[in-house]
Amino acid sequence: MESIQAIKGMNDILPGQIEWWQRVEREARRILEDFGYREIRTPVVEKLELFSRGIGESTDVVEKEMYAFPDRKGEWLALRPEATASVVRAYIQHNLQADAVAQKFYAIGPMFRHERPQKGRYRQFHQIDAEVFGTDDPMLDAEIMYMLRLYLERLGLSGVVLHVNSLGCPECRKSYRAVLQEFLEQRSEGLCPDCQRRTRTNPLRTLDCKVDRCREALRDAPLLLDSICTDCADHFDRVKSYLELLRTPYEVDPRMVRGLDYYMRTTFEIITDRLGTQNAVGGGGRYNGLVRDLGGPDVPGIGFAIGMERLILLLQQEREETPRRPVAFVAALGDLARQRGFLLVQELREKGIEAEMDYEGRSLKSQMRRADRLGTRHVLILGEEELKRDEIQLRDMADKSQAVVPLDSVTDTLSKIYGR
Ligand SMILES: [Zn+2]
Ligand SMILES: [Zn+2]
Repeated sequence: MESIQAIKGMNDILPGQIEWWQRVEREARRILEDFGYREIRTPVVEKLELFSRGIGESTDVVEKEMYAFPDRKGEWLALRPEATASVVRAYIQHNLQADAVAQKFYAIGPMFRHERPQKGRYRQFHQIDAEVFGTDDPMLDAEIMYMLRLYLERLGLSGVVLHVNSLGCPECRKSYRAVLQEFLEQRSEGLCPDCQRRTRTNPLRTLDCKVDRCREALRDAPLLLDSICTDCADHFDRVKSYLELLRTPYEVDPRMVRGLDYYMRTTFEIITDRLGTQNAVGGGGRYNGLVRDLGGPDVPGIGFAIGMERLILLLQQEREETPRRPVAFVAALGDLARQRGFLLVQELREKGIEAEMDYEGRSLKSQMRRADRLGTRHVLILGEEELKRDEIQLRDMADKSQAVVPLDSVTDTLSKIYGR
């Protein structure tokens, strides 16, 4: 019979790879919780309307990439293409703004977009996502970027640059929109069909069109950053000065628009050139109007998302393997020794030492081979002779040295060596 394969662009994460994921998640949880964020888990399926209202009807995500489908009763649902809209929905639904303590949230999990699969880009991909509600203070904007820098530093990632921009507020964007529209109309022939349409529906989106001739045509387009209002300019200046205070290097990138409609004022991306072309490992920004637009109170918000696949790809380029905790292997020969060895394996595990044995009663040679494949640090060899003398052979696989130790103290000996 033909075997069933996973869906294209949706991957299994196997042992050997999962250690990277666990490390990236562990460090993320640690740092986020140190900064006062609390975890929130929302469903992967939501009403379609949440994303079309939250992200914007005329964005690529909603127009082209979302997994949307009617359920058995004909209600339109979607697999979440990002986390922010869901977190905002939960925030409104559970009236979380009434909780003065918890206004910082994080979520880790899978997102879904029907994109053309390519290296580091998948249809089920994973994000670490953080959202903060209730303050418009530029201090918070800077703190979030500082936290991101600290996180990547702790993971040992180098060669990334923080790009920042301000997209202004709806007020200053209105006047810019008109200026940009006029510019685009003059260049209409040089633009791709999508951008010709965007000229009328969503002109800002032409600024991050990936088509070469559009990039060319837009090279000398007027910049939004040049026409933001005094309030927005002041906000941006303060974000930059706090970044300097926190010794967080940045570059202003006036062409960064981000893919989603809800961003305003501060936007930022962590950029790397190590995945071929310039790519963002993560990014985010302010979305002060979003909570209100989704039917909630008028509270400001800011957040970011990190793409875990890309982050892990980058980390793997810097280092071949994740350090694995030491493993002990008990190789026992003969029925009685096997029984005692079986007990010893459990004693080691009780001490917090990862331990394995051979359940099949194979020869010493094949047990040693298995221990080697497991990357074992120590092998404990127990035969009938050793058992009679209440002893065990302790072999260090790194330097191949071997010592005889009393059977009833070998657990303590190992837990001293492994620091457990
Ligand atoms: Zn403004
Ligand atoms: Zn275009």
